[in-house]
Amino acid sequence: MLALELAAQGIAFRIVDKAPLRSDRSRALIIQPRSFEVMNRHGNAHKLYEKGNLTGGPVAWMNNKPVVDIDVRKVANHRDSEFGLPCLLSQADTEAYLDGCLTETYGCKMDRGIEATSIVQDDDGVDVTLRSVYEGIEEKIRAKYVVGADGAHSIVPIIENFTLPIDRYHLVIGTGLFAIFPMAEGWVRIMTSRNPELSNATPTLDEIKAVVNNRIPGGGDITNATWVTSFRLHHRIVDSYRDARLLVIGDAAHIHSPDGS
Ligand SMILES: Cc1cc2nc3c(=O)[nH]c(=O)nc-3n(C[C@H](O)[C@H](O)[C@H](O)COP(=O)(O)OP(=O)(O)OC[C@H]3O[C@@H](n4cnc5c(N)ncnc54)[C@H](O)[C@@H]3O)c2cc1C
Repeated sequence: MLALELAAQGIAFRIVDKAPLRSDRSRALIIQPRSFEVMNRHGNAHKLYEKGNLTGGPVAWMNNKPVVDIDVRKVANHRDSEFGLPCLLSQADTEAYLDGCLTETYGCKMDRGIEATSIVQDDDGVDVTLRSVYEGIEEKIRAKYVVGADGAHSIVPIIENFTLPIDRYHLVIGTGLFAIFPMAEGWVRIMTSRNPELSNATPTLDEIKAVVNNRIPGGGDITNATWVTSFRLHHRIVDSYRDARLLVIGDAAHIHSPDGS
């Protein structure tokens, strides 16, 4: 996103990522209308918006009954926005859109498979050492500023016979966290809290099926999973976003639970 904004302002930059390929994981999946408006500055975000599942907001469930219904459609279908509602969309699709805009709108591209290994600033600029992850070839560059967007160091199963409304996402409360987000084409994202003793082990499909049966009995049958992982909720922020010519953004700067828990 920063690369797009710099390109729009005509400011020269180089963007590198040590990962040779873009992640295909859903990760940050609720995109707000304002985010689409900002992304639309650099391309046609309507195509991206149409790819997702528009959501009317959360329904919270307790003891298999809906107890809180926050239907944002009643208040948030903004007539002054081209994008009326939040949209459930894989972060992989969002990143593919951003990459596409960088190339198609501005003729720039991200250098993949390039790792920043050393960053040293002085009064006039910053010396950066880059290394290609496959060949191990080193390159030294001099920059005016360096922005670290290098991140911080869930679950996407298929569900069949899903009986809850797919135009909403569902939070089951009362016994830890359980959330289910219907995405496009029958995919769902499930997030659940676990026994802390298990938290480092990768969850099994059977464990997820058992949790779904327990939290939304009769709600649907899990048949497949493309991504099963465990993660810890962190709450961290840097003391300062900037030290002279070095800046940090994104997860490198601040990280917290997306649902505020
Ligand atoms: C399992 C999981 C579920 C999530 N669910 C949600 C959610 O539901 N809602 C939500 O809002 N957020 C969610 N997130 C968080 C969300 O994905 C992050 O907030 C977001 O990706 C942060 O973007 P970023 O660009 O700061 O960092 P990242 O997306 O982590 O990107 C950092 C990039 O820096 C690269 N890199 C690292 N070190 C170097 C280096 N030395 N040189 C060059 N490149 C480097 C990495 O290869 C990576 O591509 C989730 C994250 C995970 C892991």
